[in-house]
Amino acid sequence: MDKEMNYGSDYKYIPATSVGSGVGLELLPDLYCYTIQIVNIGLVGDPKSNEYVLIDAGMPNSANEIISVTEERFGQNSRPKAIILTHGHFDHVGAIVDLVSYWQVPVYAHELEMPFLTGKKAYPEPDPTVEGGMVSKMSPMFPNEPIDLGNHIEMLPSDGTVPHMPDFKWLHTPGHSPGHISLFREKDRALIAGDAFVTVKQEYLYKVITQEQEISGPPRYLTTDWDAAKKSVMELAKLNPSVAVTGHGLPMTGELLTESLETLVQDFDSIAIPDYGKYVDKKLH
Ligand SMILES: [Zn+2]
Ligand SMILES: [Zn+2]
Repeated sequence: MDKEMNYGSDYKYIPATSVGSGVGLELLPDLYCYTIQIVNIGLVGDPKSNEYVLIDAGMPNSANEIISVTEERFGQNSRPKAIILTHGHFDHVGAIVDLVSYWQVPVYAHELEMPFLTGKKAYPEPDPTVEGGMVSKMSPMFPNEPIDLGNHIEMLPSDGTVPHMPDFKWLHTPGHSPGHISLFREKDRALIAGDAFVTVKQEYLYKVITQEQEISGPPRYLTTDWDAAKKSVMELAKLNPSVAVTGHGLPMTGELLTESLETLVQDFDSIAIPDYGKYVDKKLH
């Protein structure tokens, strides 16, 4: 292991699973999504080429699984050109130190996410008192201490381009975390939304296990700025995506996606914002 990098001091395996765990889906010829326990990773790039990237880095202890999924799709001993992070929560960076030391590839994230990825600042504590769901109540066990990627982490280019993802642009979609980003490709309106919105009620254990598809705001127990989260969802809905890969839940496409996003924008306060919780602004309700 690379001495310049380490996981957070509270890093640990989280025993959580879903029916989707271990399942991969090819949504487009160059867009593949795979579920690690309860979180999705993305592989973007033509499987016949060597030009591809990994989006997000799964749950703690999942490096071997991510490497074998990657090699199965792109060939033995192949490696991505880079890892792009939608944000730095534990379930999106769970294997990153192992992956970077194995592959020796750069990691890119938004400037405002840097403190959490360079050992400088912990994310706010997850909120177990937030309205709704067993997962919220379990959330104090989730790691929130910063990981440190040392000089392996770089800022995304300020012009909106994404390294090694030529047709994609990144968009700042804060709220769930300060430097949260989503990735969008105009030509086929493909969206990688991270946790800006998700397609499963992530707070409810049985819905996580069954992966019942239902549009939802960002996972509540870790979302700290609901005003920004709402604006971000409005921005993403305006793009009218044709396919969306989200951080949690099954990918959504077509009319169901369009209608679900419309509903989420319209009823964001009731669908997404919890009635109570330590990060909820009482003035809104
Ligand atoms: Zn998150
Ligand atoms: Zn997440």
